[in-house]
Amino acid sequence: MFNALTMDDYPLTLTAVVERAQLFHDVDVVSRRPDGSLTRTTMAACVQQARRVATALAGLGVAAGDRVATLLWNQVEHLEIYLAVPAMGAVVHTLNPRLHADELAFIVADAGDSVIVVDESLLDVFEGFRHIHRFTHVVVVTHNDDAPQGMWDYRVLAERAEPMSWPVLDERSAAAMCYTSGTTGRPKGVVYSHRALVLHSLAAALPDALGVSARETLLPVVPMFHANAWGLPYASAMIGARLVLPGPLLDPHSILDLLVRERVTMTAGVPTVWMGMLAALDAEPQRWDLTCLDRLIVGGAAVSRALIEGYDQHGLRVIQAWGMTETAPLGTVSRLPVGLDEQGSDAQYEYRIRQGTPVPLVEIRAVDDDGRPIERDDSAMGELEIRGPWVASAYHNGRGSDSFTADGWFRTGDIVRIDEHGCIRICDRAKDLVKSGGEWISSVDLENRLMGHPAVAEAAVIAVPDERWGERPLAAVVIRDGMSVHPDELKQHLSAHYAKWQIPDRFEYLPEIPRTATGKFRKTELRQRFASQTT
Ligand code: ADP
Repeated sequence: MFNALTMDDYPLTLTAVVERAQLFHDVDVVSRRPDGSLTRTTMAACVQQARRVATALAGLGVAAGDRVATLLWNQVEHLEIYLAVPAMGAVVHTLNPRLHADELAFIVADAGDSVIVVDESLLDVFEGFRHIHRFTHVVVVTHNDDAPQGMWDYRVLAERAEPMSWPVLDERSAAAMCYTSGTTGRPKGVVYSHRALVLHSLAAALPDALGVSARETLLPVVPMFHANAWGLPYASAMIGARLVLPGPLLDPHSILDLLVRERVTMTAGVPTVWMGMLAALDAEPQRWDLTCLDRLIVGGAAVSRALIEGYDQHGLRVIQAWGMTETAPLGTVSRLPVGLDEQGSDAQYEYRIRQGTPVPLVEIRAVDDDGRPIERDDSAMGELEIRGPWVASAYHNGRGSDSFTADGWFRTGDIVRIDEHGCIRICDRAKDLVKSGGEWISSVDLENRLMGHPAVAEAAVIAVPDERWGERPLAAVVIRDGMSVHPDELKQHLSAHYAKWQIPDRFEYLPEIPRTATGKFRKTELRQRFASQTT
């Protein structure tokens, strides 16, 4: 082999991104506090603060490879930790505050988190699971009050610390971690390497991917606790794009105000958010001046033609992307091919409702029930499999090994058609989950809990379409002979283990659940039966 030993074996670590971000003295980072007030700093100042935060965390005992949990919104302190923790050689583990305390307790224990950084407004969520797992230290981002007894104040800690000089890291070392819901059993941890996140940031920034340039102002509505906020914080730090972080105020008017006020050019989030915002825009089209806004990146769930057309009416462009926590998350982006630029709008809409083509370095294929690759003829259907430099090859702690093929591809659980250009169209879901407002609910888990109620003989949970949330869970239950139970009691039974939004709205009482020849619940039949009924 004729090796190119003449080239620098430069490590692809986020340290390089953080060092570069230090150059961006004129790039604003705007962050909204829970009371609605805005704070303003620069990307360079964030890095300076990150250096102090890193020293402070090291002072609390955080060492290389340790997991630092965050319970934070999209706020400047979260960005500082996104930069500080990987650069100091530790691992930032973002927690989803919308999960039930039981689930969070499992996740923090499974990850083995040491220190946790909590926003003051999320202390009640933290109280729900803090007694289960012993964190070495608790750091609080305060807004109004002092940090509670026995907890550290984030800003006070950072003020007292000297800026850290970053250590040299291996590009394969862990930088970040995020959990994804399991179809059965517990959530599974995905651990991102430095190399994966650096390459992901580069790919995300490409013009035909999300398109992040130094001329952009980004407002990620997608939470920073969801799959690296789709890569936007790191891409902004790498490229020097302005970043506007909306904090906890995510209602349509609050988002619209921020988009207008900060002259945002690009925003990103799940369809539910944009449906709410479209309704607000339709109601008062003259109220908001969105002339700066070039595009809305929409993903996490299928994007309807009505949503795309609705925004077109306001001169705003929706671009669909597909991804998963396991893919860091960017997989495909639906950008119109050159040939369609001139075509009539029907053909364009037909294309724009597809999930799109893979971003560079991501490979896709789809296989039929027998594991054979399907034709790329836009007609055959199969389960999407994916591989690439930012795609997981295993879960933390060896869970879910059946999600990976023997030849190293990740099974997505999404059923797709693929055309000859590699553009995918999601047609169904092999995984038994409900996605409501961009958040997962495990059907199997709900069924097991329901069947734990003394009056319930059988329960099957399915996703039914919902205008506002995309999908909502519906529970079909069979009651034991001679017994009866009101839906409110079943909801009450579930509320001990589930967050409110995870509990089914509808309960259908059936004499029996239809089954397949092998005895599994025939959920397709239930879906057909209940999908169109609204009550
Ligand atoms: P994310 O945080 O990016 O939503 P998850 O891992 O929670 O990632 O969910 C990934 C799953 O969400 C996909 O496997 C797919 O089922 C669904 N999904 C994501 N994007 C889309 C999309 N554009 N259209 C349809 N489904 C999507």
